[in-house]
Amino acid sequence: MVLLFLAVLLSTATQAAADPDPNFYIYLCFGQSNMEGGRTIEEQDLMGDPRFQVLADFDNPGRGWKKGQWYTAVPPLTRRTKGISLVDSFGRTMAASLPKQIRVGVVKVGVSGTKIELWDKDGFREYLATADSWKVKIADEYGGNPYGYLVELAKIAQRDGVIKGILLHQGESNAEDKDWPRKVKVVYDNLMKDLNLAPESVPLLAGEVVNVDQGGEKASANEIIGKLPEMLPNSYVVSSAGLLCNADHLHFTAEGYRQFGKRYAEKLLPILGYKVSETKLPATSSSLSVQNDPDWIKPFPPFKIAGSLYYVGSKGLANYLITTPRGHILINSDLEENVPLIQASVERLGFKFTDIKVLLISHAHWDHDAGSNIIKKLTGAKYMVMDADVPVVESGGKTDFQYGNVPASLYTPTKVDRVLHDGDEVKLGGAVLVAHLTPGHTKGCTTWTMKVKEAGQTYNVVVIGSPNVNPGYRLVNNTAYPQIAADYEKMFRVLKSLPCDIFLGAHGNYFDFETKYARLKGGALAAFVDPEGYKKYVADKEQAFKTELAKQTAALPRSQ
Ligand SMILES: [Zn+2]
Ligand SMILES: [Zn+2]
Repeated sequence: MVLLFLAVLLSTATQAAADPDPNFYIYLCFGQSNMEGGRTIEEQDLMGDPRFQVLADFDNPGRGWKKGQWYTAVPPLTRRTKGISLVDSFGRTMAASLPKQIRVGVVKVGVSGTKIELWDKDGFREYLATADSWKVKIADEYGGNPYGYLVELAKIAQRDGVIKGILLHQGESNAEDKDWPRKVKVVYDNLMKDLNLAPESVPLLAGEVVNVDQGGEKASANEIIGKLPEMLPNSYVVSSAGLLCNADHLHFTAEGYRQFGKRYAEKLLPILGYKVSETKLPATSSSLSVQNDPDWIKPFPPFKIAGSLYYVGSKGLANYLITTPRGHILINSDLEENVPLIQASVERLGFKFTDIKVLLISHAHWDHDAGSNIIKKLTGAKYMVMDADVPVVESGGKTDFQYGNVPASLYTPTKVDRVLHDGDEVKLGGAVLVAHLTPGHTKGCTTWTMKVKEAGQTYNVVVIGSPNVNPGYRLVNNTAYPQIAADYEKMFRVLKSLPCDIFLGAHGNYFDFETKYARLKGGALAAFVDPEGYKKYVADKEQAFKTELAKQTAALPRSQ
C-alpha cells in the first residue's frame, strides 16, 4: 500500500518534470551592455514576485543558486551584472498584467560591447578572432560561445515552460551597419531551428538605443533598428524616446531601464491579447527625464520691483505682474499647481486676479506655461505667444523638440489668441512690452523688455527667456532642431544688444533674486537695478554654451 502510494507519487513527479507547463511563459533575452544592465538596485526593484522567475545562468553559492534552476527574479538576474536591467521591470510588468495562473520566466545572456555577429552561430568565431580581448574574456565565461550558452539554457527552460518571445537589446556596436536587420534574422532563424520553435508564435522585440532626444551617442542605429520589422515578420521595435541615459549617452539610467522594460511589456501584452495592468508597477513617469524642482511650488511673498512691475512668482518660478488702469499683464503661468499661488500673490498686492487681460510666457516649457489653460479660464485673458512656440503650447508640449515624448512634461493644450513675432509690442493701458525672439532653449523662447518709472527715473527692464542648454540637449546633428546652435548664437547676440538696468528672468536664480529681495526688504530701493550683473550673467551663459558646443563637436565620430 505504502509502496503503491510512493509509486504514484514518483510517477506524478516524473510526469511534472517531463511536461512543460503551458502557463509558464518564457522569454529569451540577449544583447550587449544595455541588456546586461547594471544600474544601482533600489528598494522598489526588490519586490520579488514569485510569478516572475529567472533561470540561473551560473552556480552562485553566495545566493544559493544553481545553474539551470528557477529562482524568484530578484536582481541582479545574472552572475556577471551587479544591478538592474530592463528585464527586471519587463518581468514584473508582465507578471502584474497576466492572469494569475500564468508565470513568467526569463533566460538572459548579455555581452557588453559586442556586435550582433557574436550571436551568429556560424560567424561568431571569426568575429571573436578580431574582437577586443576584454570582450573575448566575457565570451569565454560563456564557454566562448554565448549563443550556444543561451540555447543550452533555453533548452533547460523548455522542460518547464513554453518560449513565448525574445527580447533583444543590441545595436550600439552596429550603429552604422545597414545589414543589421538581416543579421538579426539569421540569429532568430537559428533560434527557431535549434529550439524547435514556430516563428509565428515567438515575437522578437528589439529596443532602440539611447534616443536622439537624449543626445544618444549611437542614435543613428535607431533608423536601422526601425527597419527590422521589414526583414523579420514577427518582430517589433520598442521606442527609447525620452528614456534617461548616463553621461556617456550610451547607457540608460536605472529609471531609464525601469521605463524601458515596462515598454517592452506594453508592446508584448497586446500581441498576446492582454492589457497592461498598472497595479504593482514601479513608480514611473513623474521622474522620467524631467525633474521638477521642489522650490517651484514653494510660496514666496509678492513684492513691488519698480513702478507698476511686481513679482508674483514662487521661490523657484518667476511671474511678473504689470499693472495698468486698463487691466494687468501677467508673464508666465507656471505649473498648474502654481496658479492658486499666483492668484494669492496678486490679491495680496491688492489687485484683482480677474483683471489680468493679457497672459505672456518666457518660453513653451511646462514650468512656465502648463497653468495657462486654467489662467485663461479664470481670467479670460488673451494668451499671446511667440510664433515658433505656438505649436508646442497648442499641442500641450507634444511637439517640443526635446521633451515631446516625456509624459511628465506634457500639459493641457492651450489655444493661443495672438501669435507674436520678433519685435512685436504688447500694449495695454499705457504699458508697452516688446517681445524679443531669443531662441535655442525653445524655438520661440522670448525675452521681454519694457520701461518702468520709479521715483522720477526710467529704467530698462529685461526679462530673460532662458539662455540655458538643458541636460541632454543636442547642439550638433539635432534632427529635431537642426539650427539649434545658430539659434543659441542669435540669442546671445540679442541679449548682448539689449540695454538693461533691471535684470530679471524666467527663474529667480538667473538674477540671484533672493539676495536682491533681502536687500530690497532692507530698504534698498534699487535692489534689482543690476546692469553689470546682467552683462556678467549673459557672458557666463554664452561661455557655458560655447564649452558645451565644443565638447559635443569634439565627441562627433571621426569616421563617416
Ligand atoms: Zn525651459
Ligand atoms: Zn524653466
